[in-house]
Amino acid sequence: MRGALGGPRVLLRRLREVMAEPVSAQERLDKIVVLIAANMVAEVCSVYVLRVDGTLELYATEGLNRDAVHRTVLGTDEGLVGLVASQASAINLSNAQAHPAFSFRPETGEEIYHSFLGVPVLRAGNTLGVLVVQNRARRTYSEEEVEALQTTAMVLAEMIASGELSALALPGAEPAARRSLHLTGSPLSEGIALGHVVLHEPRVVVTNYIADDVPKELKHLQTAVEALRTDLDQLLEHGDVVEGGEHRDVLEAYRLFAYDRGWAHKLEEAVMTGLTAEAAVERVQSDTRARMLRQTDPYLRERLHDLDDLANRLMRQLTGRDHAPSRDNLPDNAILVARSMGPAALLDYDRKKLRGLVLEEGGPHSHVAIVARALGIAAIGEIDNATGMADPGDAVIIDGASGDMHLRPLPDLEAAYAERVRLRARRQQQYQALRDLPCVTRDGEKFTLMINAGLNVDLPHIVDTGAAGIGLFRTELQFMVAPSFPRASEQHALYRAVLDAVGDKPVTFRTLDIGGDKVLPYMRNIEEENPALGWRAIRLGLDRPALLRTQLRALLRAAGGRVLKIMFPMIATVAEFNQARELVELELTHLRRHGHKLPDQVEVGSMVEVPSLLYQLDELLEHADFLSVGSNDLFQFLYAVDRGNPRVSSRFDPLSAPVLRALKDIADKSREHNKPATVCGELASQPIGALALAAVGYRSLSLTPSAVGPVKAMLLDTDSRKAAAFLSPLIDKPSGTTSIRAELEKFAAESGLQI
Ligand code: PEP
Ligand code: MG
Repeated sequence: MRGALGGPRVLLRRLREVMAEPVSAQERLDKIVVLIAANMVAEVCSVYVLRVDGTLELYATEGLNRDAVHRTVLGTDEGLVGLVASQASAINLSNAQAHPAFSFRPETGEEIYHSFLGVPVLRAGNTLGVLVVQNRARRTYSEEEVEALQTTAMVLAEMIASGELSALALPGAEPAARRSLHLTGSPLSEGIALGHVVLHEPRVVVTNYIADDVPKELKHLQTAVEALRTDLDQLLEHGDVVEGGEHRDVLEAYRLFAYDRGWAHKLEEAVMTGLTAEAAVERVQSDTRARMLRQTDPYLRERLHDLDDLANRLMRQLTGRDHAPSRDNLPDNAILVARSMGPAALLDYDRKKLRGLVLEEGGPHSHVAIVARALGIAAIGEIDNATGMADPGDAVIIDGASGDMHLRPLPDLEAAYAERVRLRARRQQQYQALRDLPCVTRDGEKFTLMINAGLNVDLPHIVDTGAAGIGLFRTELQFMVAPSFPRASEQHALYRAVLDAVGDKPVTFRTLDIGGDKVLPYMRNIEEENPALGWRAIRLGLDRPALLRTQLRALLRAAGGRVLKIMFPMIATVAEFNQARELVELELTHLRRHGHKLPDQVEVGSMVEVPSLLYQLDELLEHADFLSVGSNDLFQFLYAVDRGNPRVSSRFDPLSAPVLRALKDIADKSREHNKPATVCGELASQPIGALALAAVGYRSLSLTPSAVGPVKAMLLDTDSRKAAAFLSPLIDKPSGTTSIRAELEKFAAESGLQI
């Protein structure tokens, strides 16, 4: 580096000494700015720290008026320093005063300096402050000098992030590095969780920033990059990576980056400035993150993830450590923070200590969200850069119903949430007290409350809730969370485990409901214009009978000597139902012929979720043994409204005359035919929905496990005849409103019902 005294390596070595000195934070900062200024032959070196209020405070300076320290506070829209912070990138000017953003504070006396080099102080891509050097003469700082200052800024970033500077700040003006943040994402799994951050893929904590021997460090880096490349080559050439699969595409992208000369060159340059190889990887990745986090293009954002992964892999090569948190050594009240996660990875963690999950990606239909709900863990998704903002051990609160995340919450907020958690726990205790009571309304109507399930982890809920059985077992969940197609033996094992777990209670197994939004990662995805109306569920099952027959055989064998209830999803015609039922007969004949033990009784039912069935109920009920109403899909198809699309989903309400008339018709017809009908859609899991269903004649509901308590409590207080009498005119002579929710709520309030 031209003009520098001893170059960046000497500076780093001196910085290390200063960092180790037992001096106050202010003294340390003061020494640092003197060192940097001297080393870079700059007349000015200043450190600005980003505060919680979003402003930048001058924390130390060599060269500017020292009285301005802690007095000069700039907005991030103010001057060149503000611009460095808001753009999170370096600004290098020989004539700073000619720049349109230039402004100065008279108290600093900086008007006499012409050249300006400012770099952001970054950590995991987040701006923590700005480091500036200035000279009177007009000069352009060399590339090497910019590099050196950025490297130095990294050491400062660690100092700011450590919290050491907080003691120097007034309340409300602390450094932003550890500020409390309120972030909002999308709700994935209900529940409130208070705990501490555990990073699913923790960043490697770099403990040694400064290289003792640069050539040796360079060699270390080059060897690790080589090993990383070889690893990726081998994985792609010999590994178990499906041709054309998503996983392969990701690895291909990694390989492209790993061989990118620019990337390797940047890393080498960072080492040349005197950083250790690990610190160099962190620096380059932090710059990349800062740049890419400002991109809105989803493709580029996705590449950021690839680069993050690659940097992590390289870190592991360099340190020879696997940094995954010990799965069974979680702290109590752990809240996992991950960019994305597979369902199997979540199941690996110790359930007893896990309270919540935060994902940067992941929608409500993601497989990990399904597992989180099954485990009863609060979860939220789509929190941008969560892994970059949260540090291991940070206090965090998440609300799985609203999608809110409070990172490093203030004490008042924490107390308020803790109170809510206590309240919920108290309510749960009240529900527990009702667990073994029969579910009978005030007017003596008996209700059967069952649960919806789909995974092994759901099974304990039968006992916890005191449910009468499993009204909907979604068999596709096993397929969705598995890395590859579950074999017949695996399907059989799960069905058997379910039947063993429930004992005498009934289970209704629904055959595979895949397609639409339920995709299997290992199955070739067929692009369809309207997947919700496409090749899914029973349509796929009838067109690929081998798949359905394998499943039916597994079910029939698992239920040897017991009662088996099977139902088919997305039935649209009676002919389809009969065709599917015929396959059950074929499998029964096959098993009989091979001397297998058969179920004592096989009942075959149909889901009612396609509106065409509303006009075939009489014929259907002649053939089906029972009906199960999928109100989620029925509502979606009745109103032609995609429930997952927030633009339209709130336009209509299932608590409306058309939907409730349809539901009442189904209940009436099944009673006429003396065949049971259960509602297993979400409507039944909301107390107000359950109230409406009771009023239109349903006596059997299958619920999300956590809804059993609230729905039961409501039903025990209900007079079903009164509810029916109240609802009847609203359905028969609708007033023209699109929802009768408000009227029902009023009725519930007047009747003293908790909804
Ligand atoms: C429904 O559609 O209401 C239903 C229960 O099925 P799923 O939610 O699994 O589509
Ligand atoms: Mg459905």
